[in-house]
Amino acid sequence: MKLLENKVALITGASRGIGEAIAIKFAENGANIAFTYLSSEERARALEEKLNAFGIKAKGYKSDAGDYKASEQLAADVIKEFGTIDICVNNAGISKDNLLLRLTPEQWDDVIQANLKSVYNLTRQVIKPMMKARAGSIINMSSIVGIKGNAGQSSYAASKAGIIGFTKSIAQEIGSRNIRCNVIAPGFIETDMTHYLKGEGAEKWFEKIPLGRIGKPEEVANTALFLACDMSSYVTGQVLSVCGGMTM
Ligand code: NAP
Repeated sequence: MKLLENKVALITGASRGIGEAIAIKFAENGANIAFTYLSSEERARALEEKLNAFGIKAKGYKSDAGDYKASEQLAADVIKEFGTIDICVNNAGISKDNLLLRLTPEQWDDVIQANLKSVYNLTRQVIKPMMKARAGSIINMSSIVGIKGNAGQSSYAASKAGIIGFTKSIAQEIGSRNIRCNVIAPGFIETDMTHYLKGEGAEKWFEKIPLGRIGKPEEVANTALFLACDMSSYVTGQVLSVCGGMTM
């Protein structure tokens, strides 16, 4: 029996990077996958095909995670198609980095909406089927920047720190219904978001990492698998850093 056999997982922002790696890892482990994207239509269709090849059911939905009404519609569509939602990974996120004096109100709002409001939007929907089933696992993608802060990333850090406070509160609200809610805080992971860490100059970043290298999306996906399945049945309200030791 696979770790996520017959479970339904909804993963936001899975057309690329960490979300895509989580979708593949969960499918390998037997889960049916509903995933979202914002604009990468072709990549989403290709992922759908790749996931279906594991013999599970997979479907990609174009849905803006920052839009409350769209999240409400998404959850309804997924429940109609898949029957329920057992696991939710709030992974979609963006960064618009700028020093505070140059950070515009629009940039601030965009990041908070895509990264933090999105987590509220979908969590509020998925706890309904989870309460009915008296089981569920919600995994929210924060960042070590939400723990440590980082110059030039105040909006990103605020959104990611907000996710931690939100998760700890929700874990307390719904723990009695056997719904767990945890955070993953990645360090530097090799995706489009960290494209600036390629080539010359990257070494100075890696010197800050005890394990001496950038992380792979699959390494975050392994942690997500642990939090999604029953191996973590007594784990809730926790922040698991996947950062090569950067937050020691
Ligand atoms: P990425 O490669 O840039 O991929 C972002 C994904 O999110 C894409 O699938 C994108 O869809 C989707 N997305 C963005 N805004 C969205 C919205 N409003 N609604 C729905 N989908 C949306 O990013 P990543 O590096 O994999 O990051 C994934 C998560 O991990 C983010 O929350 C990020 O903050 C967090 N994280 C990343 C790192 C890192 O080093 N990479 C470190 C710490 C935390 P489209 O393809 O359609 O644009």
